[in-house]
Amino acid sequence: MNKEIEHYDIIIVGAGMVGATLACGLAEEAENLKIAVIDANEPKDWDKDSYDMRVSAITRASQTLFKNIGVWEKIVEQRVSPYRDMFVWDEGGKGELHFDSADMAEADLGHIIENRVIVKALHQRLKELPQIELLCPAKLENIEFNNDKANLVLDDKTELSANLVVAADGTRSWVRQQADIAVKGWDFDQAALVTTVKTEKYHQDTAWQRFLKTGPLAFLPLTNGYSSIVWSTSPEEAQRLTKISENEFALEIEQAFESKLGKIESVATRAVFPLRLFETLNYVKPRLALVGDAAHTIHPLAGQGVNLGLADVASLITVVVEALNDKKDVGDFKILRRYERWRRADNRSMLVAMDGLKRLFGSELSAVKDLRSLGLNITNKITPLKNLIMQQAMGLK
Ligand SMILES: Cc1cc2nc3c(=O)[nH]c(=O)nc-3n(C[C@H](O)[C@H](O)[C@H](O)COP(=O)(O)OP(=O)(O)OC[C@H]3O[C@@H](n4cnc5c(N)ncnc54)[C@H](O)[C@@H]3O)c2cc1C
Repeated sequence: MNKEIEHYDIIIVGAGMVGATLACGLAEEAENLKIAVIDANEPKDWDKDSYDMRVSAITRASQTLFKNIGVWEKIVEQRVSPYRDMFVWDEGGKGELHFDSADMAEADLGHIIENRVIVKALHQRLKELPQIELLCPAKLENIEFNNDKANLVLDDKTELSANLVVAADGTRSWVRQQADIAVKGWDFDQAALVTTVKTEKYHQDTAWQRFLKTGPLAFLPLTNGYSSIVWSTSPEEAQRLTKISENEFALEIEQAFESKLGKIESVATRAVFPLRLFETLNYVKPRLALVGDAAHTIHPLAGQGVNLGLADVASLITVVVEALNDKKDVGDFKILRRYERWRRADNRSMLVAMDGLKRLFGSELSAVKDLRSLGLNITNKITPLKNLIMQQAMGLK
């Protein structure tokens, strides 16, 4: 006897920040859609006194998307930290750049939010939406893309099919590999050391970033005077920084940060994440679309990675809803190409800008150092230029 194969309009693989937002957004916009969301890992509970070592700077555009899908209140109920200022300066130069939300007549420039807070709020919402079936924890064993549908098999041998599969399974996307979609990357050789610290002086609700010759060091404001650290450097140096004692680390980071917030009073667990910079050669194939880090992964220095993924989500929802209104097949290649054309240009310019910034601040040539400082100081003094950069960074453009 043939086993029943459950058919869905759309199957999303990956219920992280990007995939789960897509599922909630599609369910909000098209109430007749039948959607499955598959994730290998279930969100875990945590000790309320600790902070997630992974945080994201969430722009105004992403905040609006979360509001529209009924998730923003669930995030705020847990914990968020608005940042009102941003201060950037460089090592060995004399340049600095300061952005103030008051200059933009805005209450804040964005929010620093722990990734696990966002994912938990999204999973709460996923469970409220009747069109969504959340298969989690569940692992995919096989996937095939055919003319009329995609066929999927889970590791418990459950068979599923869909008109469209969306790969939201992160930077090492299994689905992308099965679909034979190649990536084009830049040689990067950097890793990020992340941790949480408590500083002697209050962080002033400011996102601080110092460009060291080895890479940028960011202090991102959290609640109760804590700061989340993203210290990008060579992979060897990042490993060394996890191995030294807490006291040694506190002294080194304080020095690297020029004691801007006084002494480092406590240091939480340290971990290292490899940094990558790539985009896929194709975002879509017949019956497949890639979103978020599965399609493009960038350096965290401008805090834009997940925000770009959420912009992918907004575009893909628009394309899918238009196709449904026109009674078209959502997995059709011509429909999906619209999404690819829309997002590729935006994502490419951000990738190139991140690569350029990393090289510019990594240079030890004195002429480059002087120009860099001059550039920061000039930008700091030209209000329209500063506002333009801020609008871009806040996702308002
Ligand atoms: C140190 C660091 C700091 C960063 N800071 C910022 C920041 O301030 N602002 C910002 O915008 N971005 C930031 N980023 C980037 C941001 O974290 C990523 O862009 C974002 O996590 C991508 O989200 P995603 O949902 O596409 O992928 P992920 O968050 O990787 O989620 C993928 C999901 O897919 C699931 N999955 C994986 N494989 C499978 C499989 N085979 N089957 C089923 N499920 C699977 C995983 O369990 C996970 O839930 C930072 C990145 C780093 C490394």
